[in-house]
Parts: sequence; C-alpha cells; structure tokens
Amino acid sequence: MNPLADFRIPFVGLKPGVHDFQMRVDPEFFACFPHSDVNQVHGEVHVELDKLDTTMTLRLTLNATLTSPCDRCLEEVKLPLQATDRISIRFGEETVLDDELWILGTKEYELDVADAVFQLVHLTLPTRIIHENEEDCDLDMTEWQDDSPENDDDTEDFDPRWAALKGLDN
Ligand SMILES: [Zn+2]
Repeated sequence: MNPLADFRIPFVGLKPGVHDFQMRVDPEFFACFPHSDVNQVHGEVHVELDKLDTTMTLRLTLNATLTSPCDRCLEEVKLPLQATDRISIRFGEETVLDDELWILGTKEYELDVADAVFQLVHLTLPTRIIHENEEDCDLDMTEWQDDSPENDDDTEDFDPRWAALKGLDN
C-alpha cells in the first residue's frame, strides 16, 4: 500500500464542521520523498479540518520523536519534535498551493497533506542534534574526540582576490 494514501482527505463528501484525522509519520513515510535527509522520525500528526460552506481550515499538530546520533558524542539521542501549522483553504478556478493558503480548483476533491506534513517535520528539526545535558553524553567518546586533531586540514583562509589586490598595491 502507498504510505502516502493515508495523507489524502476526501473533503467533498464531508459535512460542514470539524473533522479529525490521525496520521502516522515513520521512516516509511519519509522514504517516499527522495530529497529527504530524515528518516528516524516516529510519531503522529493530528489533522483537524474545519469545513465551512465556502472555506476550510487545516490545523496540523505534530507529535514525534527524532532518533539520531548525538553531534557531540555520537551516542543515540531521542529528541521530541512538536509543532503546529495552519493552512487556509479557498476555492477558485485553478489550484494554487502556497505554504499558508491553498486555492483549490474546481476539479479538486481531496486534500493531500503529505507535503505539508513533510515540511512541518523539516522546519521543526533542530540545527544541532545533541544530548540536552552535556552530562548525558558518552564521556569516553567525548574524550576520544578531544584527543583527535581539531583541524585535519591546515589550509589557511586564502582568497585569491586578496592576493590580486595586494599585487596591485605593490
Ligand atoms: Zn551526546
């Protein structure tokens, strides 16, 4: 089964009102996106669709856990990923999907939230993945890292443009 099938919401048949959906994010989900550099994320996205006569609103609530090697000690670390997103939906002639506003053309009958969920997870990823407390890091590993040479490459900042300018000065 296509893991992304669960991320489609057929809205045409839904009555006006609030509808709730629960969607699972796991490595299988991220594998569907070839440009993904995430895989060890497990969790759920709660999707609330508020349907009115002429507009709709999507609210996404991400509740997941990232499992990854710690950037400091390389031991596995688990970090919570929590985020929300809100998308307004209007109807028009042509389908135009922006980050926060989706215009749905007349042929549309379902909402595909897979990309929105994928982006929400990526926006939530921390820039550094480390144990929150340094004491939690594997110290043996940290010491080993400290002993290793800091900079393998001795190349100094060398900008050929500066060299050229110096040449002009002389
Ligand atoms: Zn660590």
